Amino acid sequence: MAIFPDKDKDKDPYDQEILSAYKHLVRPLRRLSKADRRTIRKAFEMAWKAHETQKRKSGEPYILHPLEVARILVVEMGLEDTTGVICALLHDVVEDTEIELADIKREFGNKAMNIIDGLTKISASPELDGEMVSQQAETFRKILLTISNDVRVVLIKLADRLHNMRTMGAMREESMRKITSETLYIYAPLAHRLGLYESKTELEDLSFKFSNPTLYKEISEKVEAKKERSQKYIDIFIQEIKQRLKENGLKFIVKSRFKSIYSIYTKMQRKKLPFEEIYDIYAVRIILTSKPDQERENCWRAYSVISNLYRPNPKRLRDWITVPKENGYESLHTTLMGDEGKWVEVQIRTERMDDIAEKGIAAHWKYKDNGEVQDELLTEWIGRIREILQNPDLNALEAVTEFQANLVPQDVFVYTPRGELVRLPFNSTVLDFAYKIHTNIGDTAIGAKVNTQVVPLNTKVRPGDQVEIINTNKVQVKEEWLRFVHTPRAKDSIRTTLRKEKKKIVNKGKAAFHWKARTYGVDEHHPYFQELLTYFMLPDAETFFYRLGSHNIDTEEIQRFIDLKREGKEIKPKESLPNSNGHALESMGVDPDMLVVGEKMNIDNTVLSSCCNPIPGDEILGYDDGRHIQIHRATCKNAIQLMSSFGSRIIKANWHSHATDSVEFLVAIQVRGLDKKGVLIEIIRIISQRMKLNMRGVTIESEGGMFEGLFKVFVCSSQEMNKLIDNLAKLDHIYTVGRVDTHQDYTVQPLKN
Ligand code: MN
Repeated sequence: MAIFPDKDKDKDPYDQEILSAYKHLVRPLRRLSKADRRTIRKAFEMAWKAHETQKRKSGEPYILHPLEVARILVVEMGLEDTTGVICALLHDVVEDTEIELADIKREFGNKAMNIIDGLTKISASPELDGEMVSQQAETFRKILLTISNDVRVVLIKLADRLHNMRTMGAMREESMRKITSETLYIYAPLAHRLGLYESKTELEDLSFKFSNPTLYKEISEKVEAKKERSQKYIDIFIQEIKQRLKENGLKFIVKSRFKSIYSIYTKMQRKKLPFEEIYDIYAVRIILTSKPDQERENCWRAYSVISNLYRPNPKRLRDWITVPKENGYESLHTTLMGDEGKWVEVQIRTERMDDIAEKGIAAHWKYKDNGEVQDELLTEWIGRIREILQNPDLNALEAVTEFQANLVPQDVFVYTPRGELVRLPFNSTVLDFAYKIHTNIGDTAIGAKVNTQVVPLNTKVRPGDQVEIINTNKVQVKEEWLRFVHTPRAKDSIRTTLRKEKKKIVNKGKAAFHWKARTYGVDEHHPYFQELLTYFMLPDAETFFYRLGSHNIDTEEIQRFIDLKREGKEIKPKESLPNSNGHALESMGVDPDMLVVGEKMNIDNTVLSSCCNPIPGDEILGYDDGRHIQIHRATCKNAIQLMSSFGSRIIKANWHSHATDSVEFLVAIQVRGLDKKGVLIEIIRIISQRMKLNMRGVTIESEGGMFEGLFKVFVCSSQEMNKLIDNLAKLDHIYTVGRVDTHQDYTVQPLKN
């Protein structure tokens, strides 16, 4: 066994540095027992002795590297664990020196041996030319498999990588490229998943710095310049926040910083924007001192204080306090508009939450004696990963691709009324929730209550929401549901039910027709039948039966057609087909007194509902809420909910015939299509030049070559709106055009086809 080097004999100038690095490492470990500290010292001596003749590229003694890896593990990742420190100190000895696994086992026991074995296996991946990705995938697979054995393997590996990256300056370009890409591909996402945000950010920044030095320099210089320019603005912003928080009796500190160079760079890439147009490049963090049982309350109090001070962007509120991320991250993020109209991201959390966020797994997750993690969510996640990796049908690359889909925690947890937790993918709606519970619940849904508020089915769920579905006893499935549901399960169920429902209606129509066929003297084999289809302008018998079954064809009209035919008269095809919603109101059995809307738009106590923005031509109804008569579209989901709950307060309503002459109404038209040059200009030309309509606003989002635009336009009537929709639909590269209710959240979902 090596002993502490004799200072008299050993005059190596580095020795002082080594010993001081060692002191630096053990100082924070004072809480450990004497025996533990002795074992750590033994490991240090063994490593020093084993690496004695080796030097790093910089010329330093090699031992400084494992010492620094151990320090990162303890100080930066917060893992104050004897076995962890021992293994960090010895992580390179089996691979690079004479020491064998058996020696480790003899001196430090089984646990340490297993961890070092895991670390050695990970690094022993063969060099393969041009097979970078699959080789990395193999490495990744090895790392992931070791997580299930002992998570400390991964933490030490990350600390090792971090130190290697920090000291990478003088490396060959070839190996540099391999290391940087491996870091971005494997280690940074892994650090993220383990909640080590600081490490993740640094790994990404360093990789970017080495792989793209010119761009890195350019962006960091711009950030520096911006810092100088906006320092005063941020200072004032923070000063006012501090002032208000203090007035409200909160204890806190405020930290502010610019986002990392790499995250700014990826945002530029993703949004295809130059640096100058990236606005939210600094983030302010409020860290509250709080009693354990008041943490949530204090965070939300801080939120309400600062959002009274500056205008928040409600779409950018991220609540990881009600339900933390899978990796344990808790925080409240909001984006506020400061005085100069600049957006600033503000993160609110308590000291405990901040500690977890900075140090992740090590600070938060408790270990059992055997190194297994005691955390349900993480254990569940590791279980899922193990399943993927052990699937014999996937090769390493596919397994990693699968893994990466599972890597970024995008799941949202919501509660059922009975308090059961339901996991849904990010961007799911309450209807996805309904289908996740049961197909029947989805099929018969008409709305939902989210935290006791009644909301339409396309409302997106947010973490911690309590969701209750409102059902009727009839199947309600609509084709348009397919446009907003997010989960494959909901989509499949809706399609299946739609097919079944259609079949039912066709059969009903067929039965009705056969019943009448005797009176008509005409069945579907009669020569008149084809002419009947032509008359109604329908492509085939099935569509005819469908229309008949859904009461969209008047049976008396069939009789009239046959009579005229018999008289030998020439009959032109019908110009327009009956309105498909013609019967909604009657079937509700509403008050026969008819409210006429629109003669004068300022009729006392009549208000147009802002949830569905009815316009002349829409079928409408009134709802007496005690103070006003709200006018809704008959198809509005809120109105349907109102009808089913408060039928007696519903008043039949219609538009005055002159309503269209006087007033304009706001509608929202959603357009989706290929993101080709000129498409937007063409759309705006049609709206404002050809149709001479006024626009209130336009929102455009594009992603992956597709765009989605929302045009808020003033029209006089539904006819005018339909004409606009027709005109837009005729444009090249446009996939869908349709009216949307303006109460919807317009955040654009990722366009995937
Ligand atoms: Mn190493």
